Amino acid sequence: MGSDKIICKKCGIPKPAEGFYVSKDSLTGRGSYCKECETVRSKERRREVRKKPGFIYIIRNDAFPDYMKIGQTVNVDNRLVNFQTSDPNRGYYVVHSRKFDDVGAAERLIAESFPHYYEWYKIDMDMDEADMIDFINNITL
Ligand SMILES: [Zn+2]
Repeated sequence: MGSDKIICKKCGIPKPAEGFYVSKDSLTGRGSYCKECETVRSKERRREVRKKPGFIYIIRNDAFPDYMKIGQTVNVDNRLVNFQTSDPNRGYYVVHSRKFDDVGAAERLIAESFPHYYEWYKIDMDMDEADMIDFINNITL
C-alpha cells in the first residue's frame, strides 16, 4: 500500500497504475509513460510521419502556352526528366520551385485556394505565372 503509484518517465508525476496503459514487456506491467503523455506522443509521431519535405514546382511547355503545371516532388530535376519523355521536342521547363518542410500541406493549400484549377492550371485573367509564383512564395505553413 502506498507504493502502488508509478512515476511517469515523461512528466514525472506519480500516478496510480490505472493511469498507465498495460504493457507486458515492463516489470510494473504498465508502460513507462502515463496515458496523457502517451496520447501526446502518438499524436506527435503521427504528425511527423505525415510531414514530408519536398518541392512545389511550376512546369511549363510553350507547346501549351495557356497552361502551367503545379505539382510536388522530392526532386525537381527528376520530375522534369519524366515530363520530357512525353514530349519529342523536350519542351518542358521549370519556371519556379520552392522547398517546403511539409510539401503535402503546401500542395493542399494551393488546391484549396484555387479549387477551379486542377493540376494543369489554365492561365487566364485571374491568374498568370507571376501570380502563382507570388502565391507560392508567400505560403507560410
Ligand atoms: Zn506523464
